[in-house]
Amino acid sequence: MGYLKQIDVENFKSWRGKQVIGPFMRFNCIIGTNGSGKSNVMDALSFVMGERVASLRVKHLRDLVHGAHIGRPVSDTARVAMRYCDNKDLETVFCRSIIGDSSEYCINGVRVTLAKYLEEFGKIGIVTKAQNCLVFQGAVESIALKDPKERTKMFELISQSREYAAEYNKKKEALLKA
Ligand code: ATP
Ligand code: MG
Repeated sequence: MGYLKQIDVENFKSWRGKQVIGPFMRFNCIIGTNGSGKSNVMDALSFVMGERVASLRVKHLRDLVHGAHIGRPVSDTARVAMRYCDNKDLETVFCRSIIGDSSEYCINGVRVTLAKYLEEFGKIGIVTKAQNCLVFQGAVESIALKDPKERTKMFELISQSREYAAEYNKKKEALLKA
């Protein structure tokens, strides 16, 4: 199973200039005082995974540039790159940059369309449209309160097992009848 190795940020939210978050291990814990930037790590991750601006706690993409929250952006560009290692330690670098209010997407330094970018995430088993892959601050309770069927649906979507559900149920029924 692959894992997230490192996130490289440049002028993104609370990180000024080029900075490195990580290296990560297979299980990680981020601790810090209130306002120290823990949720910004989640924002960097969802940003690089192609999340739409509406889900990034800002109105416009340009608000994500360091200093923009106080009306003093240090640049008109910002960048987040995610280094992902597969089970053979082969690295893939997904990078999203913003220039003003537009985004550019690159995989291993090669510019690609958003559709291709998301497709490559799909190939490594990350379903970016299943937003609950990342559970944000305040969302834990709403997930815990979902009824069991809804929660099962959510896990099926994240794990991509949903597409096999019909076949599974059919075989289960056949076995029960036998
Ligand atoms: P809490 O424990 O309260 O949830 P947190 O560690 O999750 O806090 P974040 O919400 O990640 O904190 O970070 C908030 C900080 O990010 C604030 O100090 C804010 O000034 C800073 N910040 C947000 N946007 C920008 C930006 N565009 N430029 C620079 N700093 C920013
Ligand atoms: Mg937070």
